[in-house]
Parts: sequence; structure tokens; C-alpha cells
Amino acid sequence: MQALTNRGKSVERKPMTLLERLYLPAIFKGMAITFSHIFKKVPTIRYPEQKRPFAKVSRGLQVLNRDEEGRERCTACGLCAVACPAEAITMEAAERQRGEEHLYREEKYAAKYEINMLRCIFCGLCEEACPKDAIYLSETFAPSNLQRKGFIYGKEDLLIPNPLTHPEEYNKAKGEKAPTTK
Ligand code: SF4
Ligand code: SF4
Repeated sequence: MQALTNRGKSVERKPMTLLERLYLPAIFKGMAITFSHIFKKVPTIRYPEQKRPFAKVSRGLQVLNRDEEGRERCTACGLCAVACPAEAITMEAAERQRGEEHLYREEKYAAKYEINMLRCIFCGLCEEACPKDAIYLSETFAPSNLQRKGFIYGKEDLLIPNPLTHPEEYNKAKGEKAPTTK
């Protein structure tokens, strides 16, 4: 049969020597390689106890932001959903009622806001499109889940804790990438 290249090598099928038939030298050689790795620096990390620092340009899970008075910044304008190339964002707008000024910054707010993390490609376009600094991509990522519906993140999953009522949780969730409040 004609060879496609000239790189083929014929395999020699020599009978095994006595040492090779004993297998013990090969086992000891393999064990020596294994033990030598015990003294080498481990390249893996024990996640989630240990975490690698994120690169400055990394983009993680979205956070729905509040202002310094704890009011939701999102005005349900839909620009993030329009900008999203993966069509991962859906929302329902509602009108702010009298007496809700301390809850919502604008006259319109997102009564429902969802991001499908199975669709999201963490491109950051939603953050760039938002005129209200209401959404940003943080340093965390979506934890694993066994069910698809577990990756549909609702407003309660995305909204940052209130800085006035839960300052500790707010500071923990805010991270390094939160836009400066205006
Ligand atoms: S990061 Fe990109 S893909 Fe994900 S929700 Fe925002 S715009 Fe859509
Ligand atoms: S997150 Fe920003 S862009 Fe998206 S609906 Fe809210 S205000 Fe508009």
C-alpha cells in the first residue's frame, strides 16, 4: 500500500526480556516518578478554600447596583437587554408609586429582572450600555448547579444588599469593580 508520507516507522515486535516480563522494574520506575512529584510545587489550588486573584480585565457575575441611599438604580430602560448579543436579559418594568421614593431612584423600575447565565458570555456590553450605572460585572462567577433553572438569576440574586441596612454584606458584595456612585 502506498504511504501518504515518508514519516511512517515500522514497529519492531521483539520478544520481552526477562526483566520486562517481571514488570517490577517498570513498576518501581513509575513509583519513583510518582514520589518525585510529592516534593514539587503543586500547580493546582484547593478551590473553593483557595482562590486565585482575578485579572483586572476579568468579568464575572452581574450585580444590580444601588445608589448611596440604598435605592435601586435600574430604571428598566431595556438598553442592557438590547445590547446583549446573547439575548440573556429579560425584564418587566413597573411605575414607582407614591411613598416608594426610598426604594427606587427613578420613576420607573424593574419589577422583574432576569439573566440567563447559560446564555451569558460575560462580554460586559450590558454594563457599557447602562446609562444609570445600574449593572456591572463583578469578580465572582456563577456557582455550579445541577439544574438549568438554577442558572436563571432573578433580581433577588443579582441585586446588591442595601448599604444602609446591610453595610457589611454590601461591602462584601460590592467588590473592586463597582462604579463610583453619583
Ligand atoms: S455580559 Fe454580555 S452576554 Fe452577559 S448579559 Fe451582559 S451583555 Fe449579555
Ligand atoms: S440595568 Fe441599566 S440598561 Fe439595564 S434596564 Fe436597568 S437602567 Fe436600563
